[in-house]
Amino acid sequence: MVDRLVNSEANSRRIAMVENCFGSSGQPLAEQGRVLVGEGVLTKMCRKKPKSRQFFLFNDILVYGNIVINKKKYNKQHVIPLEEVKLESLKDEGYNRNGWLIRTASKSFAVYAATATEKEEWMAHIEKCIEDLLRKSGKQPPSEHAAVWVPDNEASICMHCKKTQFTVLNRRHHCRKCGSVVCGPCSSKKFLLRGQSDKPLRVCLQCFDELSKERVRPPNQPQTLTNSPSKPVPDTAGSGGDSSADDDDSEDDDERVNTEEKHDEPKFYGDGEKTEESNNHSSKESAK
Ligand SMILES: [Zn+2]
Ligand SMILES: [Zn+2]
Repeated sequence: MVDRLVNSEANSRRIAMVENCFGSSGQPLAEQGRVLVGEGVLTKMCRKKPKSRQFFLFNDILVYGNIVINKKKYNKQHVIPLEEVKLESLKDEGYNRNGWLIRTASKSFAVYAATATEKEEWMAHIEKCIEDLLRKSGKQPPSEHAAVWVPDNEASICMHCKKTQFTVLNRRHHCRKCGSVVCGPCSSKKFLLRGQSDKPLRVCLQCFDELSKERVRPPNQPQTLTNSPSKPVPDTAGSGGDSSADDDDSEDDDERVNTEEKHDEPKFYGDGEKTEESNNHSSKESAK
């Protein structure tokens, strides 16, 4: 059914709309064979708090961005190749319901849908796209994934030493290997994590030890530690937490519009044999 949509005018029109909404803040999305499979708002767990993000599922990429004006203007575009994506369902916990993880080698995060049905639809559509892609390319999904960061407010003390209380001066840091929130001294070392960056990244002392052991095992492999283990890197620059430079989510802070009050159900195009335009699940359970 995707094939039938490839050349469809409706598909091209939809993709042009998405490009339009991102304007110059986004990259060109129209491409031979690319199909917009679905779109909708999901709540993305960011470092400080959950935030509404507009998601577009294509048959080969997942695109999301900040909502400046609902359905009109988006920015801060992120493009994730679906070949690299692995999904992991999350159990409902308190207010965090209908969630799942989107994991890739370079970045992993949790998203939440408004209802269980929408979660099912999203996950099924994404999984289907990944499956089709991998079948076509014959590639294997990546086995290593970036850590999901523990949100700041879930740790009031360092998760490694269990002593340091976080304050304005004692800022929080994130281990890039396990995602823990740790204090400066407990994350004073860096390690090269290939999937995530070419530069060594901040890791907690526990991960540093484990990673160092792994590295020692292959006999003639030189250690790739760029910072000598005996000399922890002092937290010079501003001593302040994860600086915005390495904080993946800092860019999310300029949220302008709150889209929480009214919820639009996600739209998936080309499901079943219904006509595309009328297929927006309007008869399914109400979000409220
Ligand atoms: Zn600590
Ligand atoms: Zn760690």
